[in-house]
Amino acid sequence: MTTRRRVAVLGATGSIGRQTLDVLRLEPDSFELVSIAGGTRLAELAQVAEEFHVRRVGVSRPEDYIAAREILGDGVEVVVGGDGLAELATDADVVVNAVVGFAGLPVTINALAAGRTLALANKESFIAAAPLVERVRDTPGASVLPIDSEHCAIYQCLADSNTGPGHPDVRRLLLTASGGPFRGWSRERLESVTRHEALKHPTWSMGPKITIDSSTLMNKGLEVLEASALFGVDVERIDVVVHPQSIVHSMVEYVDGSVIAQLSQPDMRLPIAFCLGRPIRFDHAWGALDFTQAQSLTFEPPDVDAFPALPLAYAAARRAGAAPAWLSAANEVAVAAFLHDEIAWTDIVPIVSAVMDQFDDAPLRSVEDLVAHDAQARRRATTVIAGGR
Ligand code: NDP
Ligand code: MG
Repeated sequence: MTTRRRVAVLGATGSIGRQTLDVLRLEPDSFELVSIAGGTRLAELAQVAEEFHVRRVGVSRPEDYIAAREILGDGVEVVVGGDGLAELATDADVVVNAVVGFAGLPVTINALAAGRTLALANKESFIAAAPLVERVRDTPGASVLPIDSEHCAIYQCLADSNTGPGHPDVRRLLLTASGGPFRGWSRERLESVTRHEALKHPTWSMGPKITIDSSTLMNKGLEVLEASALFGVDVERIDVVVHPQSIVHSMVEYVDGSVIAQLSQPDMRLPIAFCLGRPIRFDHAWGALDFTQAQSLTFEPPDVDAFPALPLAYAAARRAGAAPAWLSAANEVAVAAFLHDEIAWTDIVPIVSAVMDQFDDAPLRSVEDLVAHDAQARRRATTVIAGGR
C-alpha cells in the first residue's frame, strides 16, 4: 500500500472545512487527517478529532485551552491562536487553509516556508501578504493549489500554457462571477437590502463573510487580486464576466484567441478534491453536467456603478504594496459591522473606500509590517463606522 498523504484542515468547522472532511471520508485510503483547527466550536472540533483520530488540534482563544484539553482528552495535543496555526501548518504534506479572514495568515506563510503544499481557500491572507508570499513560495517542496473555484478553474485551463513568468502566451484571464443575489438591481433598490437577503446566495452555500462579499462583488474584487498573485498576471489582463449559472468557473484566453474554460456543477468538493489529490482525480462525479438536457449559459459585463467594490479592488492592485491588505482588512471590519446590524448593506463598500482614501503607503517588508498595516486599516474602518474620519 502506498503511504497516505498527511492532511491538515485548518478552519475545519467552516463551510470549506466540512466539505474537505467529506472528501477525506470518501478517500480514507488516500489521506490521513493529522491536525485540525477552528475558532470557537470546540464540541465540533472534538467530534472531528475523535472520528479521524487526529493528534493535534488548534483553538483560537487562549481561554478555551483548558476546556479543549478536557473535551479532547489525553493523547491529543492542543495548540492555541496564531502561533498554534503556524505550528499546525508545518505538520502535514497538504495544508488546507480554510480559515476565514486575515486570521489565516500564519497558515499561508508557514505552510509555504516549511515546503508544504498549501491548498488555499483563505484568499484574504494570500492577497494581503502577496509580496511576502512571493519570498516563501520558492521554498523547496512548496506549492500553492487554489481551492477557490475560479482559481482552480484557471489553474486547470493554464495547464497548456507556456509557464514563463507572467504567462506570455495568455492574453487574459476571465474570472466568472455569479453576480450574487442582487444582480440587475439598481442603486436605489440596493438601498433597501436586508441582512437576510444578502445572506442568500443564488448558486453557492458558503460561510457568512464570503456570502456578503459575493453580494457586494467584493469577493470578485478580492479574487482578481488573488488571481494576479497566484498566476503572476497583471490585473490589467484580468477581466470579470458575470455568468449567473455558475457552470463555467473561469476561462483563459490565449494570444491566438483560443479560450479554454472549466465547466462543472457548482460544488466545492470538486476543487477541494482536485487540490488534495493532485495529480490524481478521484472518481466522484460532483461536477457532472448533463449536456443531453437543453440549457443556456449566459455572460454579461458587471455593473460597476451599482457594485463599486470591483473598481476599488483594481485600484488597490495598482497601488500595490500594502493596499490590498488595507482593502481586505477594511472590508472585514465593514462586513462584520453589517452582520451585527450596525451598518446598512450600502455602507459596506463606501466604508472600505473611505479607508482606502487614507491609505498609508508605508513599506511592507515583513510579517510585522503587514500586521501593523492590517491593524491600522481596521482602526480606520472602525473610526469611519463610528462616524469619524
Ligand atoms: P466559514 O465562516 O464557514 O468558516 C471559517 C472557518 O475558520 C471556521 O472553521 C472557523 O472556526 C475558522 N476560524 C475563524 N477564525 C479563526 C481563527 N482565528 N483561528 C482558527 N480558525 C478560525 O468560512 P468559509 O468556509 O466559507 O470560508 C473560508 C475561507 O475560504 C474564506 O477565506 C473564504 O473566502 C474562502 N472560500 C470559501 C468558499 C466557500 O464555498 N465557502 C469558496 C471559495 C473560497 P469556528 O467555526 O469555530 O468559528
Ligand atoms: Mg470563488
